[in-house]
Amino acid sequence: MEQKVLRLSPSRVNDFTNCPRLYKYRAIENLPEKLSLDAERGKLVHSVLEDLFDLPRSERKESAAIELLPTKWEEHQAEKPEITSAVPDEKEWLDRVKSLLSTYFLLEDPTTFDSTYRELHLERDMSEDVYLHGYVDRLDIAATGEVRIIDYKTGKSPKPGWEEKALFQLRVYALLYWRREGVIPRLLQLLYLGDGKSVKSSPTESQLLATERILTNISQEILTAIETDHFPTKKSRLCDWCSFKEICPAFNKE
Ligand code: SF4
Repeated sequence: MEQKVLRLSPSRVNDFTNCPRLYKYRAIENLPEKLSLDAERGKLVHSVLEDLFDLPRSERKESAAIELLPTKWEEHQAEKPEITSAVPDEKEWLDRVKSLLSTYFLLEDPTTFDSTYRELHLERDMSEDVYLHGYVDRLDIAATGEVRIIDYKTGKSPKPGWEEKALFQLRVYALLYWRREGVIPRLLQLLYLGDGKSVKSSPTESQLLATERILTNISQEILTAIETDHFPTKKSRLCDWCSFKEICPAFNKE
């Protein structure tokens, strides 16, 4: 039988490393998942920040972001009508979004720079069997040619010692960009709007090569799991948020 190409992204890699069974339910069986209000709130914040950079520099103020919100919220509801009834209190919901947007302005002043790309799709065939891709929230190229990659997180910053794990996603983007453009980004930055903190890193060539090796190893593990249909469960605190807990053999007898 012809082998299908494995589509990898930082999220799917995280799924597999967090729990192979979760990966199977999500990436192979494409099972439906319950609506996550946290994830939907994150998408709404991202869409406002994306449009903010369409405005002239001098207009990219906190008030402008708040003004964009009603339109973006309407668009969000039109795209996903079930969100309207899932939000228990619309005012509280929008107030939380506003608070996250306000925190963004504590971390950056968007009137002082321009953004080159938003929602940039980067992709690469790692081999005949493996395709790697991802969407970068924002990529800025300075007049000097220096590149920085920004990712907005609507949660809180990682506890000390967990920053490296958090940076993996951006190192994958940096690797994809480097392989495409021949330029290693100067700065990777995670902006945590949940607590107004950021995590920064300047990637080195050896770090990106190490990231590539990790991706190669994980893709081999996934291909083996698919071939043998072996996706063990891995219980963790993430199970409390897992959409598949009700059917997961770790919590139910098969
Ligand atoms: S409930 Fe836990 S063990 Fe089961 S699939 Fe989800 S994350 Fe994995």
